[in-house]
Amino acid sequence: MATITLPEAEVQNSKSTATKYVYSFGGGHADGNGKMKDVLGGKGAGLAEMTNAGLPVPPGFTIQTEACREYMRGSLSKAVDQQMNDALAQFEALQGQKLGAGENPLLVSVRSGAKFSMPGMMDTILNLGLNDKSVEALAKRSNNPRFAADSYRRLIQMFGNVVLDVEKSAFDEVFEAKKRQKKAKLDTDLDAKALEEVIAEYKKVVKKHAHRDFPQDPREQLVMARDAVFRSWQNDRAKHYRRINNIDDMLGTAVNVQAMVFGNLGETSGTGVGFTRNPATGTKEFYGEFLMNAQGEDVVAGIRTPVHISELEKIMPDVYNQLRDITTRLEKHYRDMQDFEFTIQEGKLYMLQTRNGKRTGLAAVRVAIQMVEEGLISKEEAIFRVEPNQLYDFLVPRLDEKKTKIEVLATGLPASPGAAVGQIVFTADEAVVKAGHGAKKNPVILVRAETTPEDIQGMEVAAGILTSRGGMTSHAAVVTRGMGKCCVAGAGDISVDEKKREMRVKGQTFREGDWISLDGTTGRVIKGQLDTIPPKADDPELLKLMGWAEPFRTMKVRANADIPRDAIQARAFGAEGIGLCRTEHMFFGEKKIGHMRAMILADNEKDRRAALKKLLPLQREDFAGVFKAMDGLPVTIRTLDPPLHEFLPRREELMVDIALLSSYSAKQKKDLLANYKDYGVKAAGDLKRILPGLLARVEQLHEFNPMLGHRGCRLGITYPEITEMQARAIFEAAVDCSKKGIKVFPEVMIPLTATLKEMANQAAIVRRVADEVFKEKGIKVDYLVGTMIELPRAALVADEIAREAEFFSFGTNDLTQTTFGFSRDDVNKVLPTYLAEGILKQDPFAALDQEGVGQLVKIATERGRKTRPTLKVGICGEHGGEPSSVEFCYKVGLNYVSCSPFRVLTARLAAAQAAASDKLKVEGGRTK
Ligand code: PEP
Ligand code: MG
Repeated sequence: MATITLPEAEVQNSKSTATKYVYSFGGGHADGNGKMKDVLGGKGAGLAEMTNAGLPVPPGFTIQTEACREYMRGSLSKAVDQQMNDALAQFEALQGQKLGAGENPLLVSVRSGAKFSMPGMMDTILNLGLNDKSVEALAKRSNNPRFAADSYRRLIQMFGNVVLDVEKSAFDEVFEAKKRQKKAKLDTDLDAKALEEVIAEYKKVVKKHAHRDFPQDPREQLVMARDAVFRSWQNDRAKHYRRINNIDDMLGTAVNVQAMVFGNLGETSGTGVGFTRNPATGTKEFYGEFLMNAQGEDVVAGIRTPVHISELEKIMPDVYNQLRDITTRLEKHYRDMQDFEFTIQEGKLYMLQTRNGKRTGLAAVRVAIQMVEEGLISKEEAIFRVEPNQLYDFLVPRLDEKKTKIEVLATGLPASPGAAVGQIVFTADEAVVKAGHGAKKNPVILVRAETTPEDIQGMEVAAGILTSRGGMTSHAAVVTRGMGKCCVAGAGDISVDEKKREMRVKGQTFREGDWISLDGTTGRVIKGQLDTIPPKADDPELLKLMGWAEPFRTMKVRANADIPRDAIQARAFGAEGIGLCRTEHMFFGEKKIGHMRAMILADNEKDRRAALKKLLPLQREDFAGVFKAMDGLPVTIRTLDPPLHEFLPRREELMVDIALLSSYSAKQKKDLLANYKDYGVKAAGDLKRILPGLLARVEQLHEFNPMLGHRGCRLGITYPEITEMQARAIFEAAVDCSKKGIKVFPEVMIPLTATLKEMANQAAIVRRVADEVFKEKGIKVDYLVGTMIELPRAALVADEIAREAEFFSFGTNDLTQTTFGFSRDDVNKVLPTYLAEGILKQDPFAALDQEGVGQLVKIATERGRKTRPTLKVGICGEHGGEPSSVEFCYKVGLNYVSCSPFRVLTARLAAAQAAASDKLKVEGGRTK
């Protein structure tokens, strides 16, 4: 069929007339509504909904997200400007004012607002419309020249920074200098005249850094501010935030232009933020803070200490009651906890925002349960009100906030959850000295502007980390999350003076040795020494919510655990078996490593068997411990996987020691003895004899690419005696336990197979040894032999492999590595760029790449079950505890997921949500 191509101009025209870019709200009517978050963003949709509900919302208009997407593509339609002008005219008529003109000039705020809230990540401009003329009109009208001048200087500062890219510090220097000159302690001590001088200086700053004048035309200000908000969608902070929260880069932000209301017009004005319930604990209480005679940024900036919202009742009871009434209605309307912003202008209340409030895992569970009890939502809905990852909050220590009245000094990013209480130190070295080998001995909190890799030792011994700069992916945040250590990052209100060893916040100075408490779950920094509550997974409310979710779950959840202690822990969190026991981890124990090394160094089968014989009882003991811990549940034990050189000294270090041996002092030689004692070195004289032989063996085992080398089933095939010993240890332990009445279900798993013959080779050994042991001991136990699917070839020939394998477990760490061809150990060299450039949306080692690796999972499952319809299929890579991956596994029809013990709860809820959303035909709410 022929296609008709329109000339370019016509295409644009037809598009622009078809698209509604600008949605007005005000005077009791809005063009949009609360359901239009895709188009209007969360804030815009909330403003529209509140307007329609007749609530006091300052009027304005929302420029929809499509305009931002066009802006990003460099093709902003002319219709946006046209529609914006029309909306502005309507808005001006409604207000009886003109933007930045006349005796009563209209002033507006210009704010971002994306579909998913990204607090503080994008830009805002207030007081827009002020210029040299309108500032005078405002002064006259308000009868408050100081207020007018202050509003204008704030606009120049915000506009200069956000729109014209002038460093904030350039303005701060001017302001601070003026305060010094006037001997002013507080910002509010500067009078109108001083502020006018600041304005003149600010204009010079703009001219100098932006090479242009501050625009006097209010419409030019508006267009420039709008475009700056569009650009802020692409700033680094916003990009990081989206990556962490898995928000699509292509959504774009809406821009809300709204009439300014002033909270800084005197003692009957004020501004505040609040929640309908406590977002940290979930307690049903009106929660929030406000400041009289202040603008929004003062509440956040910590220049003055905000007051608890209950105080408002005393100051302005009518306004307080109206606010309570409105927010209660909003909560009922949205059927969820609300996070709201309000301003009081000369005694009149205005609502500026409402949205579903962000909350901790504890609060999420508690609020969901309360709302079921209040009849606001159903139990089925409650299941989806908790993000599975949030359950981690139940597994870390918490601050005990009940006993004392707390003073929150600042709120930063909740970079790594948990609680930490300790004495301040300012350098990593001090941390090491003061902490005395470990967080518990003498707990310290390492306070830094930001951390660097050199701080790592200090971070290790500190109880918690606090930084004043940096985001959720800053060094401090990433490292502490890996360590499972509490961290509050980017607490911008705190200034850290590392030279003076001082931390200043809210007008207070803290020095080395002062106590602070961190809440890494909410990002709060609290003064003093609070008690902590140890973690527990038997919180009655958690159990209640899980009790509603669990009946939906069809997929089992197991844990990856190698030692009885972890297995017991996993079971307490609800694990229904062990999905991966990495036997190599068992070889690192004090008693075993020597025999293991002897086994590796052996250059003939006889010596190797002799060493393995010594390992056998030790392994047997380990397996018996795990079987006992998991009495009645299946335990998957994997035969040896890593390349053998991992158990030997590093080639380079060995070479250096050999080369320098003759020049080493007696003390150095003594140290070497300790290093090499497991290799048969007993006296200094042995070094010269043994080290070269050791090097020769290390060189024999050296591989250019060990991850793709002599590992996995390749080890068991080249050294069958290793598999034999491990199988024997497994079955002897199983039989012994069974004799004691422990119910054992061993599943022996062969790693890294790619072909049927590899599988057949190893399965034959396992089955032969099982028969031998059963015969020797006179009893049998049921067991399975299966394989990991970790290579694309294995997935493709899964139908073949399933002839021998009785179960599959996807090792998606290796499968991701081998499918992408990314080294799992080195990927971080390229990953940050890939994520920043949008080449990859997520780290594929954290969340399963459903499109590529996921296809292999699907193919292997289908092909395997074609050969063996009863084939048990699971996953044991890191992805087994990541909610979106768990959901995928459910959809593909896996029997179980297996993850680290601390993610078992998360996996259970994610698996329940996946099944429930399928059954109830509701969207899981995880796909962003
Ligand atoms: C895997 O590859 O996903 C796996 C679980 O094995 P390992 O991480 O031990 O290689
Ligand atoms: Mg693997």
